[in-house]
Amino acid sequence: MERYLGRLPERADILVIGGGITGTSLLHHLRARGMNGVLVERAHIASGASGRNAGFLLAGVADNYADAVRAYGRSRARTIWQMTLENHDTMIEAVAGQDVDHRRLGSATLASGEEEAESLAESAQLLSEDGFEAGWDGRRLINPRDGEVNPASTVGALARLAKAGAIREGVNVTAVEASSSDVLVHADGAECRAGCVILATNAYTPLLLPQIAIQPRRAQMLASGPDASHLCDLPTYSHFGYRYWRQLPTGEVLVGGWRDTAYDEEVGYEERPTDKIQAHLDVQLKRMGAEAAVTHRWAGTMGFTESGLPLVGPVEGMPGIYTCAGFNGHGMGFAFVSAKRLVDSL
Ligand SMILES: Cc1cc2nc3c(=O)[nH]c(=O)nc-3n(C[C@H](O)[C@H](O)[C@H](O)COP(=O)(O)OP(=O)(O)OC[C@H]3O[C@@H](n4cnc5c(N)ncnc54)[C@H](O)[C@@H]3O)c2cc1C
Repeated sequence: MERYLGRLPERADILVIGGGITGTSLLHHLRARGMNGVLVERAHIASGASGRNAGFLLAGVADNYADAVRAYGRSRARTIWQMTLENHDTMIEAVAGQDVDHRRLGSATLASGEEEAESLAESAQLLSEDGFEAGWDGRRLINPRDGEVNPASTVGALARLAKAGAIREGVNVTAVEASSSDVLVHADGAECRAGCVILATNAYTPLLLPQIAIQPRRAQMLASGPDASHLCDLPTYSHFGYRYWRQLPTGEVLVGGWRDTAYDEEVGYEERPTDKIQAHLDVQLKRMGAEAAVTHRWAGTMGFTESGLPLVGPVEGMPGIYTCAGFNGHGMGFAFVSAKRLVDSL
């Protein structure tokens, strides 16, 4: 991946903090509207959750459709599903011509037991009534419009569309302060006066603004080497979204999740795989019949909100400061379109 080393600018019309899928999407939409954005990232682009995730492009929130209808109401749930389908279409359109390993074969949500099966069957029914493609085969809910992508390549592709000099890596923002005329940003001894600042820092947002209610939660994964057998037909999601796996066309298997088995331990910012969770991922890999050995194990930090929906908009009491964060483990499905909504509202 290209490097974009740089410094904090002294002035910026719009300063985006965070170089993941959200920050690079924001830059893309700002540029499309002729607005001047500069993105600063403390490490390198896609170094956060965006370069560590499973690459599922799923419609909707973490909950299945029936549960989402119960939580948000039918009309809002339908709007959210529509919005995530738009996210999928428009994000892939934006990176057209660049290789991001996108496939759109659908996804399967596998029932873990009777309770989930009932809820998934109901979801299929409600989705069809609301005009979405969905099928229930007694064991799995199939969403034919879902897909998968290489997430780091997608962020890299969006970054390549940015204006020269608009991305600056190695800039660790330490504070943001609102004033009546602009926003003062501090990073490693340097200062920037920005017309406005957008925090695209997902799980890390409370480290800059502690009043933002986003909880950091760890997710772990493993990858195997290429396996000669076809072990999995579709990206699969199970146990109410806590467990997931898929096989790449080149044979490697990705397995992730299982934080439901250590819910209170899988919190915070320590991006380190643990034996306890990794043992569950190993069992799943074997259960799928994989013979290839594990080549990579890793962890990343997701940002969760109370409502289960992202925080996209102004920060209360801090003029000129906005968040586009809190993607509840589904940023690949939400961030591109959330960034567009925020830029449209500026
Ligand atoms: C293991 C795992 C599997 C997942 N699987 C999926 C999946 O299959 N599908 C899906 O949709 N989602 C998935 N997710 C969630 C998804 O990765 C996130 O929702 C998404 O990447 C959030 O993107 P972001 O750009 O908002 O945040 P991030 O990618 O975390 O980016 C935030 C960036 O901000 C930078 N930053 C933070 N603080 C500062 C600072 N003070 N100064 C400068 N820079 C700063 C960080 O370095 C980081 O690069 C998964 C997450 C994990 C960890």
